[in-house]
Amino acid sequence: MANPAGIRFPGQAVVIGAGIGGLTAARVLADHFERVVLLESGVLPAVAGPRDGVPQARHVHGLLARGAKQLEVLFPGLQAELIAAGAPLFDHGLFASTTVFAGLVPRARTGVRAHGFSRDLLEWSLRQRVAQHPQVTLRDRSPVTGLRWSPDASQVVGVRLADDEILDASLVVDASGRFSKLPQWLVDAGYPRPAVKVVDAGLAYATMAFDAPSQDFEALQHMNSAPDLTRGAFVLRIEGGRWLATVFGALGDHPPTDETGWREFAAQLGNPDLDKLLASATPVKEAGVHGFKRTENRRHAYTAMRRWPRRLVAIGDSVAAFDPVFGQGMTVSVLQAQALGETLAGADDLDAVARRAQRRVAAIVRTPWLMSVSEDLAWHHYRERGSLPLWLRPALWYKRRLLRLAVVDAEVYREFLSVYHMLKPPTALVGPRTLAKVLFKVRGPGQGEPAARRGGPR
Ligand SMILES: Cc1cc2nc3c(=O)[nH]c(=O)nc-3n(C[C@H](O)[C@H](O)[C@H](O)COP(=O)(O)OP(=O)(O)OC[C@H]3O[C@@H](n4cnc5c(N)ncnc54)[C@H](O)[C@@H]3O)c2cc1C
Repeated sequence: MANPAGIRFPGQAVVIGAGIGGLTAARVLADHFERVVLLESGVLPAVAGPRDGVPQARHVHGLLARGAKQLEVLFPGLQAELIAAGAPLFDHGLFASTTVFAGLVPRARTGVRAHGFSRDLLEWSLRQRVAQHPQVTLRDRSPVTGLRWSPDASQVVGVRLADDEILDASLVVDASGRFSKLPQWLVDAGYPRPAVKVVDAGLAYATMAFDAPSQDFEALQHMNSAPDLTRGAFVLRIEGGRWLATVFGALGDHPPTDETGWREFAAQLGNPDLDKLLASATPVKEAGVHGFKRTENRRHAYTAMRRWPRRLVAIGDSVAAFDPVFGQGMTVSVLQAQALGETLAGADDLDAVARRAQRRVAAIVRTPWLMSVSEDLAWHHYRERGSLPLWLRPALWYKRRLLRLAVVDAEVYREFLSVYHMLKPPTALVGPRTLAKVLFKVRGPGQGEPAARRGGPR
């Protein structure tokens, strides 16, 4: 194939895994390589629908506003296409029924837009676009079984597939998700086992799909809250007028995966909007109840390794997978793919890319990791010791006061949502106005460490 204008690196880039991270990485790499081969172990359906390889796709997948913005840059027209497919786009403050431990958040316009679609639809839309890209070859049923190395194992030169098939590569991107085999592949090549940090809140999801009439909300969030409120729910109206309803519980307080038990669990939340929706909802017959328990935060310290192979980059859940309650994973993957593209754009030499890109990937992980882990460490400590360590108390104290304010102060909630959607950094929540309000305006409880309980808001 002729080398189109602007493509600077010869040969092909290989991406392992066609999830959100792999698809966006392939799109970005196509700007810089003659060819991109995207390899997926599972079967990729021709229509938007469930597939093996991403069992988490059965559960509510909210895309943060920052991720949506960046996806639109990479795939212009995507948002309009999703809307045309029946996916609602709405103001998160106005059309989400949000309950936090302190109560129901009053509805108000925030300017933070959220989108309701199934992960299947999002992935399919991205997949169509990537598959049609002239430089990209998308192969499903193609599990990568290992990496190919230079003789001294200092550089990755390709991948191995089943039946001893080998693909050479100028750059390999691992986007094979939470269960990536990359740590073992590195060990097999003589590298020390990468350190991994795991923080587990003992959280499980269970999800049902429903047909239901329109409501006065497009999404419902019932947030759990460490250390006392173990249960929560996410509900999203998706394409086709369907609703996805996920209930979840931390500290082993797991939702049942039979319909009767699931409904009881949901009812115990004591959320009137959820009760109203479920009362008029008909379960999608063939869908059933789907559970998911592998929700621990897991981060590989790849940038802490003294040696890192040239021509290898890992992104997405393969590097850091988060507790899904915060809805960060897809956005983080997209931002990392973007960072990979920027690193390539600024590089003259491919050999310098891997380390640099991996550092940028790690930098993108840092804030979402802190947000996710600070809450989950509270669960963890509470479960292990029945109390919180002193060093964790101020952050939790501040967050609880902030949420207490959010139910009475629209400005504070708007700021909170902007940070939640990664449109602003967390430091926005300690800006002078918010800080003063948090310190001096909050009344009532929320400062102590209440006893463990399961039910709805106070
Ligand atoms: C229950 C749950 C709910 C979630 N909810 C949200 C949410 O609301 N919002 C959000 O942003 N994120 C959410 N996430 C996280 C989100 O699913 C991921 O962060 C996101 O999909 C990015 O992952 P990825 O592309 O790195 O990996 P994945 O999406 O997991 O994709 C990895 C792909 O690699 C393939 N693969 C694996 N091994 C190989 C191999 N050897 N060879 C070839 N292919 C391979 C797999 O089949 C799969 O297709 C949730 C996660 C879970 C578990």
